[in-house]
Amino acid sequence: MTEAVGGRSHGCGTLRAGDAGREVRLYGWVGARRDHGGVYFVDLRDRSGIIQVVADEEATEEARAALAGLRLEDCVAVRGRVRRRDERNRNPERPTGEVEVLVERVEVLARCDRLPFEIVDDLDAPEELRLRYRYLDLRRRPMLARLELRSRANHAVRCQLVEEGFLEVETPLLTRSTPEGARDYLVPSRVRPGSWYALPQSPQLFKQLCMVGGIERYFQLARCLRDEDLRADRQPEFTQLDLELSFVDEEEILAVVERVMARLFAEILGRELPLPLPRMSHAEAIRRFASDKPDLRNPLEICDLGRQAGTIGFRIFDDALAGGGLVRGVRLPGGARLPRKRIDALEQACKDAGAAGMAWCKVGEDGPSGPLARFLGGDAGAAFLAAADCRPGDLLAVIADRPRRALVALDALRRAAGRELDLVAGPDRLLWVTDFPLFEQDDDGGWFPAHHPFTAPHPDDLEDLLAGRREGIRSRAYDLVMNGVELGSGSIRIHRRDVQEAVFAALGIGPEEARRRFRFLLDAFRFGPPPHGGFALGLDRLYALLAGADSIREVIAFPKTTAGGCPLTEAPAPIDPEQLAELGIRFTAERGEAEKE
Ligand code: ASP
Repeated sequence: MTEAVGGRSHGCGTLRAGDAGREVRLYGWVGARRDHGGVYFVDLRDRSGIIQVVADEEATEEARAALAGLRLEDCVAVRGRVRRRDERNRNPERPTGEVEVLVERVEVLARCDRLPFEIVDDLDAPEELRLRYRYLDLRRRPMLARLELRSRANHAVRCQLVEEGFLEVETPLLTRSTPEGARDYLVPSRVRPGSWYALPQSPQLFKQLCMVGGIERYFQLARCLRDEDLRADRQPEFTQLDLELSFVDEEEILAVVERVMARLFAEILGRELPLPLPRMSHAEAIRRFASDKPDLRNPLEICDLGRQAGTIGFRIFDDALAGGGLVRGVRLPGGARLPRKRIDALEQACKDAGAAGMAWCKVGEDGPSGPLARFLGGDAGAAFLAAADCRPGDLLAVIADRPRRALVALDALRRAAGRELDLVAGPDRLLWVTDFPLFEQDDDGGWFPAHHPFTAPHPDDLEDLLAGRREGIRSRAYDLVMNGVELGSGSIRIHRRDVQEAVFAALGIGPEEARRRFRFLLDAFRFGPPPHGGFALGLDRLYALLAGADSIREVIAFPKTTAGGCPLTEAPAPIDPEQLAELGIRFTAERGEAEKE
């Protein structure tokens, strides 16, 4: 507070016609400035909004000079009197647009240097620059609005869960590795040279320990850190709403998450989310959409042509089938009108997804045309087209490849075709995908947990698991999907020792390794662990969707770039040799070399 102006009396954005005549003391930043022949106008902005401050012939010479001397983004205090604007000067776009403040006193609290970019709503500046000066970027209304949305959403989530009897518990950041399948960020211990903490990939093990500890209903807005290859919409650290419940089955967990989602829809979007959300098994999602996170706004479905493909005499199909591969396609209704260039673009999308190519034909009134057409002449060809339910005017696009690659390409094809035909529209579509497989296989044939190794197997597949089978074993894991985006995952956990051992064995984790990595959890499970399960909802992604933002970085105050750097602090950064020495760490690669890798 300043002596000249006095303590702040109002927020700039709060003034209305009813305040006319009132003396106000405002604090904020200088937005737009205008000089209309000796009458000076300044838009004064604080978090609550923007008010026009004016110095006209009624103002003192001193006040006029002070207002005239202000520069963009100077931080100032202003004392003045609210008055109604003339009819013709009202600004209906602004909540404060009926009034202005006639200035009596101005005090500059801090000057602003030349700005790297303008503080305007529709800024067109490189993201790197915005991130370097993020504090200036945050002064922009759209950024503030997104942070406000985030804060309100966090509050709504907390209210809902506290009302439902959940306890918010904070879990450690300096801990041991959590098995979420990513690389750990490691922190060296100074007092125990050679020993390292891992930053949590999620609070998974601690929340399970909370259940053993009798917490029954846990939640946390948890920071998770995963050293993964970065992608456009991924951050090395992110926030998830982490939940765990005891003495429940899937139904209760899904219902809690649905109520949280409904509350967010109501409070943030002002829309009702119809509950319960639809469910689909993982197997059905893969069969119909070649994806475990299908965008249901896209009506296209996958058709299995495996049975007919072997009868038309096309070698590529024969070879794929002989090698245990899939032949599946997408029928694009009305797609025959697409010009060759657009069809090539669809094929490119398949190739970008790893497929060798895409076979296709157009279906006309007098039969098929296009590259596949010459194999589709006879009855076998007719049966092939019928299997895809093709009608005149359609385009049929077909992928033949090893199963995993084929599915990835079909997913890409379905998305690209949906965009191409402009089919992806309509209200948000949420769904649960359930009964995920317990294990997945990498390209070298190694098995890894599809979720994490504490996920319980599906009761119908338990016997097979205990008998040593891995393929086709289903789990009690579920994902929440919205518009083709995975919002979160969870599962019922294992709490039987023999089952946990069987899962470790299936993953090639021997008893010794299991003890070394998870001793504390296995120990805890000796002391009457309750049956439990949980869920984690990725909040950055969800909030980006709710805010209609293009990227998760738009809903994070201080995000990293896609390359994992922070242009603001310039982290990650080299550290002093003394710090390294203190930690007993020496580089084996030259720094330049390490960066090249
Ligand atoms: N820990 C899991 C994850 O972060 C979520 C869960 O199983 O609750 O994906």
